[in-house]
Formats: sequence, structure tokens, C-alpha cells
Amino acid sequence: MLFKKPKNSLEGNPKIQFKLFKDKTDTLSKELFTCKKCKKAYSEKELSESFNVCPFCNEYYRISARERLDILCDSASFIEHDSELTSVNILGFEGYDEKLSEAKKQSKENESVVCGVCNIEGIKTAIFVMDPFFMMGSMGSVTGEKITRLFEYATDNKLPVVGYCVSGGARMQEGIMSLMQMAKVSAAVKRHSDANNPYICILTDPTSGGVTASFAMQADIILSEPGALVCFAGPRVIEQTIKKKVPDDIQRAECVMKNGFIDNIIGRKSQKSYIGKLLRMHMRYEA
Ligand SMILES: [Zn+2]
Repeated sequence: MLFKKPKNSLEGNPKIQFKLFKDKTDTLSKELFTCKKCKKAYSEKELSESFNVCPFCNEYYRISARERLDILCDSASFIEHDSELTSVNILGFEGYDEKLSEAKKQSKENESVVCGVCNIEGIKTAIFVMDPFFMMGSMGSVTGEKITRLFEYATDNKLPVVGYCVSGGARMQEGIMSLMQMAKVSAAVKRHSDANNPYICILTDPTSGGVTASFAMQADIILSEPGALVCFAGPRVIEQTIKKKVPDDIQRAECVMKNGFIDNIIGRKSQKSYIGKLLRMHMRYEA
């Protein structure tokens, strides 16, 4: 074992993952879920209708990149880019190959981000959505490459970019190749911005590490889901370093917004209409 570290609490702990079966309600499971916060039970149909937010206490559960695209994009408008790209174990890091195949199995994705173009309320938009079920959205070299290519495509085609971030940070198994993605994506974001194209980012639970330190915080408008953990180093790392307990809410979206790093907090159900409104305001859109 090259490095021995305590299990990262952000990994391998998928909250309830559910599938949206909009037109196939008969296929929904009869099984009841119990909310970990309010302990009330509800069906998969109720969970699906509330976009994986507890209908009783408003607790947010994680959803996959495809489910977000399903919620956000106009019907059948999403065209995926670079779906075939996938990471390789370039450093020969012990256990990484197994971790990658497990992540692919769990998320049914080739990488931790899904990129493409779609329409949001009729406006053509470049979009990237990170997936919490692929190594908790960890940023490897292919994650950075896909997002860079998306920004370059958006710059060439004068499109806005909408991005959903969820990440435990840079992927340590790829070492410096992972860290350099921060600079590479940042440069592409800057070129997109210099060409007068808007970038809207939505931070979801958790957004941390190298993603927070680069493209998650470089958007023109930064939104967040309620209660999302938004930080660079997480509370556990800070507590281990300074040997003091940090307040529970210190890195939650509400506190981060109070300190000026987030522009607004928008519930999952309102995100499509809110983002659509922002795009209409900032693009010269002709109906
Ligand atoms: Zn609940």
C-alpha cells in the first residue's frame, strides 16, 4: 500500500439513488424509504416527484448526473459530448484500476462528469454535470479535459455554460495530472468569459477541494442547493489540523452565501425556471 489513509467519508456513501421514471410510474418500486432526518417513510414515487428531496422535511438526497439532466434540459434536447473518454491509471497507482471499474459500475458512467449541449427553456446551452456516484465527482485528468473541451466548444459557438458541481476534490490517484486540471479548466473559463459568454454554476453537496478552488468559484453567477457543503478543506481536515471543533454550519451554503461567495440558494424544483430566467436575461435571445 503506497499511502494508507482513513476512509474518506465523502466516498462510498451514496445516499438514496433513485431513478426518474416519468412515463413509467408502474415500474416504480413499492418499497418505502425512510428519511434519515425526519424518519418518515415514503414511496419511490413520492421521492421521484419531489426530485429526491424529502417531501416532509426538505432533506436533500443526492442524484446522478443523468437525473439532473432529465430535470433541467428541455425534453430530448441533450446531445452528449466526449462520452467515450475515460481515465487510465497513468501512475500505476495501487488499487486505482479496481476503484475505476467500481465507479463505472456504480454510476454507469465513463467519468465523473457528463458534458454536452441542450436547450434550457428553449435556450441553447453548453452544460456539464458532475456525478456523485463516480468516486464522489473526484476530478481526474479526463474530468478536466471534458470540461475544458466543453468551454472551448461554448466559446467557439457563443453559448452560455451551465455547470453542476459535486466533488470531493482532485483525484489523488492521478497526482499532478489531476491537479493541473484546475489551471487548464480555469484558462478555458477565462477565454469563454473574455468572449463575453456567461457561465452559471450550481454548487451541490459536497463541492470541495480542487473543484472549489477552480471552476466552481469562477462562474459569473454562483448558485447553490440548500444545505450543500461548500469548502476547500472539509471540516474533518480542519479539525484534525487546528485541533479544535468547528461550528456545524460553517461551510454550509447558507453561511457561505452570508460571507459573499454564493449569489443565491435555489431549491431543486425551482432551478430550471430560475436558470432559464437568468439565461434569458443574459443572452440576446430571440423567441
Ligand atoms: Zn425527511
